[in-house]
Amino acid sequence: MNTQASQAADSSQLILALSKGRIFEDTLPLLAAAGITVTENPETSRKLILPTNDPNVRVLIVRASDVPTYVQHGAADFGVAGKDVLFEHGGEGLYQPIDLNIARCRMSVAVKAGFDYETAVRQGARLRVATKFTEMARQHFAKKGVHVDLIKLYGSMELAPLVGLSDAIVDLVSTGSTLRANNLVEVEEIMDISSRLVVNQAALKLKRARLQPILAAFERASAQAK
Ligand code: ATP
Ligand code: MG
Repeated sequence: MNTQASQAADSSQLILALSKGRIFEDTLPLLAAAGITVTENPETSRKLILPTNDPNVRVLIVRASDVPTYVQHGAADFGVAGKDVLFEHGGEGLYQPIDLNIARCRMSVAVKAGFDYETAVRQGARLRVATKFTEMARQHFAKKGVHVDLIKLYGSMELAPLVGLSDAIVDLVSTGSTLRANNLVEVEEIMDISSRLVVNQAALKLKRARLQPILAAFERASAQAK
């Protein structure tokens, strides 16, 4: 077993997986409510394992889409991940007790201004859809009975309709300013997105005494933030 996994297996130690950026920032007040302060800044530190004021609690910094994988396999005991990421992962091996109401946005379909999405859908046209969220897109269009060719991208989805790579994109939208800046229009909302606390199912049983007060503090703090 590697060092991280054996740390996570030690029942006195808690390992939390977070991604840099908005999820880290929005989780800090929830950690504070549980009496936990992260003592290094992931934006300036090169460390991927950050200490906290509690010697038994450490924070792993991972890619947003990798959080469920670390928690599923027990390399982290718990983590924070967007509903979008959890949807793509499938949620296997994860207990999802709390919607933290942070990093709120929506998953939407967008097209180039002037593209008549409604008519294309009504006429049963085959749509080329570029997205990072292929599972979300697959299920959405299957439910509508629309045939799609999915094109998997890893970022800058907004570019795809502009250069003729796709007719539409499925992407996260918050203010819509990135879409507007690229001459795209939001034509359909698929679902509201926020981030959830995810807990490894074995850790939930074996480390219940340590995890429970933290989960309770997160729940209280996130309900207040609503
Ligand atoms: P990476 O930058 O590593 O490719 P990412 O783009 O998924 O990953 P973030 O931009 O930090 O990482 O997004 C993390 C989560 O925050 C997303 O999974 C989503 O749930 C949420 N999110 C993404 N974009 C927004 C937004 N514009 N407003 C609010 N929440 C967002
Ligand atoms: Mg991003």
